[in-house]
Formats: sequence, C-alpha cells, structure tokens
Amino acid sequence: MLAVCFVLFAPSAWARTCQVTITGNDQMKFDQSTIAIAPGCTEVSLTLKHAGKLAANVMGHDWVLAKTADFQAVADASTHATLADGYLPKDDARVIAHTKVIGGGESTTITFPTSKLQKGGDYTFFCSFPGHWTMMKGTLSFG
Ligand code: ZN
Repeated sequence: MLAVCFVLFAPSAWARTCQVTITGNDQMKFDQSTIAIAPGCTEVSLTLKHAGKLAANVMGHDWVLAKTADFQAVADASTHATLADGYLPKDDARVIAHTKVIGGGESTTITFPTSKLQKGGDYTFFCSFPGHWTMMKGTLSFG
C-alpha cells in the first residue's frame, strides 16, 4: 500500500514529457504511420506540422487520437462537422486528444497526459478533415 500511495503522490519532478513530431503534406499524407509512446512518458507533447502550401479549408490537417475501436465512428461523425468545429463532433468523449486544423506552412502543438491511455491499448490517429482519414491514419501504442 505504501508503494501505491507513493506513486499516486509522486512529485511532479517525475513527470516526463515525450516529444512527438508528425508532418502532413499537400499529398494528403502523414510522414509516419506508427507512433510509439515509451512506458515512462507521463505526458506527450505532440507537434503537427503541415509541410504543404494549401490552405486549411482546402487541404487542412489535424491530428486526432481515438481508440481503434472508436476510430471509424469518430471519422464518420467528423465528416458532418465544419472547419469551425475542427472537423470533429462536439464534446465527443471518444476523442482522446486532438490538435486544431492547420493549413500549409503552419504548425501546432498539444500536450496530453498518458493517463488517458491504457498500456498495451490499441489506438488510431488520423486527420479528421473530410475524407482524409482514408489515407491519413496510423496506429499509436503506449507501453
Ligand atoms: Zn488532412
């Protein structure tokens, strides 16, 4: 029990932020199809870059994370959302983390705690711009 309490109240100095960078382009592709988060990471700082030139309303990209079991339903729902809503269903608990939608030449960074992930869980990341998920998706693992 002591060990459990110690972990729960571990000082923030134990926090370990792991950096991930992923790039999308005008060819509707991410430069990675797998992202592995090491087990010691307490949070993830994810930077999405858009290496293309096209604007967000034409070739926008975001990075959205969901359980693989939820991915298809979230991707389908995002098709009915607008750019103003980030091409995502509002307040959808199935969305574990997401960036805003960016256009060519832009970048954006988000941070999320790995407490939202289960070790060994099966996660899919994708771009929720309508239709992009067919080509812009990959898997994320933790642990
Ligand atoms: Zn996209």
